[in-house]
Amino acid sequence: MEYKIRRDPPRSLTLTIASRVQELEKRGIPVHKLNIGEPDFPTPGNVKDAGVDAINNDFTHYTAGGGIPELRDAVARDLNHRLRLRYELEEIVITVGGKFALAAALMAMVQPEDEVIIPAPYFLSYPDMVTLAGGTPVFLPLSVENGFLPDPEHLLAKITPKTRVVILNSPHNPTGAIYPSDVIRSLVRILQDREIYILSDEVYDCLIFDEAEHVSPAQFEALRDRVILVNSFSKTFCMTGWRLGYMAGPRPIAEAVKNIQSHMTSSPNAISQKAALEALRGPREEIRKMLSVYKQRRDLICELLEEIPNLTLFRPSGTFYVFPEISHYLSGRFPTSMELSLYLLEEQGVAVVPGKVFGDDHHIRLSFATSDEEIREGVKRMKEGLRQIG
Ligand code: PLP
Repeated sequence: MEYKIRRDPPRSLTLTIASRVQELEKRGIPVHKLNIGEPDFPTPGNVKDAGVDAINNDFTHYTAGGGIPELRDAVARDLNHRLRLRYELEEIVITVGGKFALAAALMAMVQPEDEVIIPAPYFLSYPDMVTLAGGTPVFLPLSVENGFLPDPEHLLAKITPKTRVVILNSPHNPTGAIYPSDVIRSLVRILQDREIYILSDEVYDCLIFDEAEHVSPAQFEALRDRVILVNSFSKTFCMTGWRLGYMAGPRPIAEAVKNIQSHMTSSPNAISQKAALEALRGPREEIRKMLSVYKQRRDLICELLEEIPNLTLFRPSGTFYVFPEISHYLSGRFPTSMELSLYLLEEQGVAVVPGKVFGDDHHIRLSFATSDEEIREGVKRMKEGLRQIG
């Protein structure tokens, strides 16, 4: 039998690293994991209890395709409280993680041959999501000199009659950059008179440090009917495994996302929705404590990385990632960030993610969603590994 597979996105390179980590650990070799893209804290107790109550109260069946009205209402209130945004219930869809909101929104908006502009480095799933939706990714390079912020002139140069969507992601994975309001305003000026949608991935919007402020393009009236805001319970509430996120945006797109989701998954998980309701309505003390721990870890990892020669550091203002430049260490033996990351793993027992997976081969991503001890030991080993190659 010849299998004619029509769509098979490439295996993620992060899995190559992850499966090598597993092999090493199976052989009893300790690995210091600075590659993990999820909170290391447990889901808060009150949220877990709400999930258990949902099970015990038999709230264990399909729900409405777009999510239960109470949760959509709680999301609308939260967006209003935090960002002064106003959404009707019909403009909000609860989805199977933020990822499905992004994928379904692209499926709803993108027609064959449409172009989708993606600032690079990017969250690794965007290009494959665009391709799976039938569109063509067009990359907008970001640079560390520019603070990894999209340059309006560069954006303008990438726009063609085929441009259908621009994906924005602030706070940004993998760099930790946050787009200030004047940068978003200058992008809005370019986009406002064009028929282009803005897919705004805001899943790290509560993980911000110092005086940084989260600004959403949806807050700009000129784009009000073209921004699809995507968020998630994964990162803020340590709920990655509960698989719950949402989109908020124009009613026709919300309707399409809801319909796509109901055909592909029936509905988001009922139990998770009750837990998420508690996450939004309940106390946020634990979340505030986690944020202050992340901030201390951010300070610690930056301090340690600054001691490594020939490494250029960009200090993240949000997320739990740092994305240092490692060009100096790329050479014949390590032509790309992939070989360098595998070397650090095999020889030093420290796992990092090669920048290549995010479309930027001159950097590596380290996660500080782990303990101080792991951060200290991991960076120490990385420093030693880089010292040996020069
Ligand atoms: N967007 C970004 C930038 C991410 O980093 C992630 C997860 O790592 C997601 C979206 C998807 O999150 P989830 O599907 O768990 O809500």
